[in-house]
Amino acid sequence: MATNTADALRSHASGEVFAPPDPGFAEAHAGFNLAEQHQPDLVLRATNEADVAAAVKLGATSGLPVRAQATGHGIGIPMPRGILVSTAGMRSVHINPARRTATVGAGTQWHEVINAAAQHGLAPLSGSSPTVGIVGYTLGGGMGPMARTFGFASDRVRRLRMIDATGRTVEIDAEREPDLFWALRGGKPWVGIVTETEFELVEVPTYYGGSIFFAGDHAERVLHAFAQWAPTVPDAVSTSITLLRLPDLPIFPEPLRGRLSVHLRYVHIGDPAQGAEWLAPMRAAATPVLDLVAVTPAVAIGSVHQDPTEPMPARDDSIRLRELTPATVDSLLEAAGPGVDTPLIMAEVRMMGGALAQAGTHDSAVGGRDGAFNVCVIGPYPPPLREAVDAASAATLGALQPWALTGSLINFQGYALAPDQVRAAWSPEVRGRLDAIERSWDPDHLFQTAFSHARGD
Ligand SMILES: Cc1cc2nc3c(=O)[nH]c(=O)nc-3n(C[C@H](O)[C@H](O)[C@H](O)COP(=O)(O)OP(=O)(O)OC[C@H]3O[C@@H](n4cnc5c(N)ncnc54)[C@H](O)[C@@H]3O)c2cc1C
Repeated sequence: MATNTADALRSHASGEVFAPPDPGFAEAHAGFNLAEQHQPDLVLRATNEADVAAAVKLGATSGLPVRAQATGHGIGIPMPRGILVSTAGMRSVHINPARRTATVGAGTQWHEVINAAAQHGLAPLSGSSPTVGIVGYTLGGGMGPMARTFGFASDRVRRLRMIDATGRTVEIDAEREPDLFWALRGGKPWVGIVTETEFELVEVPTYYGGSIFFAGDHAERVLHAFAQWAPTVPDAVSTSITLLRLPDLPIFPEPLRGRLSVHLRYVHIGDPAQGAEWLAPMRAAATPVLDLVAVTPAVAIGSVHQDPTEPMPARDDSIRLRELTPATVDSLLEAAGPGVDTPLIMAEVRMMGGALAQAGTHDSAVGGRDGAFNVCVIGPYPPPLREAVDAASAATLGALQPWALTGSLINFQGYALAPDQVRAAWSPEVRGRLDAIERSWDPDHLFQTAFSHARGD
């Protein structure tokens, strides 16, 4: 069956088509997270919108589900069969300096826009990692290193193009298809494959920020200082703090590898002197091992979080908190602080609030605006470590339950969750509206078999 379907797709698409046992099949659908991947029958390395439409039409006529993958940073619920459209080859960036917008192709990664926009003194609302795909990130909202100042990336989206379940191109903005425009900004709905998106850039040629690392021995002092300090900072400051356990490998700086560190991330937009003033209480919390906070060009925004750039097996999970009290910090330290034998690489507390709490110009499906903090735990996930990482993640997030809000940020929800867990990211009202939009745009569940099953469709 796969051979016939592959040949049918080859005759309609200009991009390469891979089916097992073709050499290159495994590589064509490999993603950043090596812990889990889709199990498609076919992979199309799409080169343009017509390719995407051909794959969708073939899926619709052959009964094979269809999904998109740009980088594999967040595959969600893996597909057990079907046609995977790799958009990795659909990369393009057009900056309009007068409108202060970027228009990008489906597979474009943040670093490409960061570099192009910087030539005009502009910056996108990228995430912590510049190698994440723009479309997948923005469909889930997108909370980056400047988020408290400028909000979710999805709030800045002006327009999208999408191939729907019939293979038709749909132009989406606030006037044309307002329901889809609402859903595609934060609802991560599986109703089509986005081929292009246009979004606003912000005027940020430089920022005052970067990383400060403290020794793990000072974790208690530094985390308590953070909990006291964070609620005092203005919206011009975005910040997060992480209990970081880097493996003992030469690729990591000597003072950080093979031990627990506390990693403070800080970005201030505005006068650098004021940025330094706001940061002073944290600099005084303990003597830093490394202090890399300085006036920094916007192209270096990836250095704030210093996320990994090489593929690895990892598992993440998260909750949002309504507050970070001294007792919350104590519970976090008991679960993942110094002296605890945990396989987690990171237990991150990201401050929310500021512009994240304000709806953008147009209402959207983005979930989790009301969080004061987001806590995300990440562990390495090769098979021998899975049980221990699952247990440590559950113990750490479980310890914070007294301060937890319901719902979550879908982009921080890892992969391989049950459909019900994914659905729980949004309020029942938002999920209900998303369900109605999914039913109307994809009545035969071409893109969303797992979700429709959870709904009982
Ligand atoms: C190292 C790392 C750092 C991260 N940092 C942040 C962060 O700071 N803030 C934040 O908000 N999130 C962050 N994330 C989460 C990330 O935003 C999500 O995992 C996002 O979905 C990744 O998108 P992608 O296209 O790169 O990945 P992919 O795995 O290729 O795609 C992710 C999802 O988007 C869908 N999708 C992709 N392209 C399309 C398309 N063209 N049309 C329709 N659906 C599509 C896919 O089907 C899949 O469900 C991070 C993830 C990692 C691994």
